[in-house]
Amino acid sequence: MAAVEFVDVRKSFGAFPVIKGVNIEIADGEFVILVGPSGCGKSTLLRMLAGLENISAGEIRIGGRVVNGLAPGERDIAMVFQNYALYPHMTVAQNMAFSLMLKRAPKADMDQRVDKAAGILGLTKLLDRYPRQLSGGQRQRVAMGRAIVRDPQVFLFDEPLSNLDAKLRVAMRAEIKELHQRLSTTTVYVTHDQIEAMTMADKIVVMHDGVVEQVGAPLDLYDNPANLFVAGFIGSPA
Ligand code: ADP
Ligand code: MG
Repeated sequence: MAAVEFVDVRKSFGAFPVIKGVNIEIADGEFVILVGPSGCGKSTLLRMLAGLENISAGEIRIGGRVVNGLAPGERDIAMVFQNYALYPHMTVAQNMAFSLMLKRAPKADMDQRVDKAAGILGLTKLLDRYPRQLSGGQRQRVAMGRAIVRDPQVFLFDEPLSNLDAKLRVAMRAEIKELHQRLSTTTVYVTHDQIEAMTMADKIVVMHDGVVEQVGAPLDLYDNPANLFVAGFIGSPA
């Protein structure tokens, strides 16, 4: 059974169609990257998977279960945003524990999950700091920690590295991949950066103007692009 499925998914804002019949199948444990130029509909697709945006037509399934109409909290997913969205008045530990607190998890369980995630991400010594006392890379790790503590079926990332400088971006790519190797959690990752897609993905979904142009492993797309758009987009990094 697929971990995530999009079946003829469509979305319009008013009369304006932005997702025009998308079919994607994601296997359990796969690291899938949605890539395409700005405005092609990547975030909209991810937000629909997360339950942050209604879908106009079609079906989205997570673990075989149709999630159309389910609230974000009912979908067993965790999303990492581009701007981290950390709470400035909460410590690292409190930021990570917050979603568990909302679910009224027992304190011992909460502490154990936070400690484990902090260990994985190298945040153990920073648990009592506030976001303003952290570097960009450390903030990014806290944002990932918040997702990890929930132990979701699927991680969602929307351009998580685009606010970082080039050097840190390269380092964080490796960290996110290591994290995936360690946890094997199914991951859907959005970026407009071809290099990120080529170096990180098990499978790439190339989008353009609300449709999927091609799905394949990085080398497949590089060697056998389905059309001129894919050839141009994958072949010429911005
Ligand atoms: P990407 O993430 O690939 O850059 P988006 O999914 O953000 O693209 O946007 C796809 C298209 O939908 C764009 O034309 C954008 O302007 C439009 N769009 C996104 N969100 C809204 C919204 N809330 N209302 C109206 N149009 C939107
Ligand atoms: Mg976007």
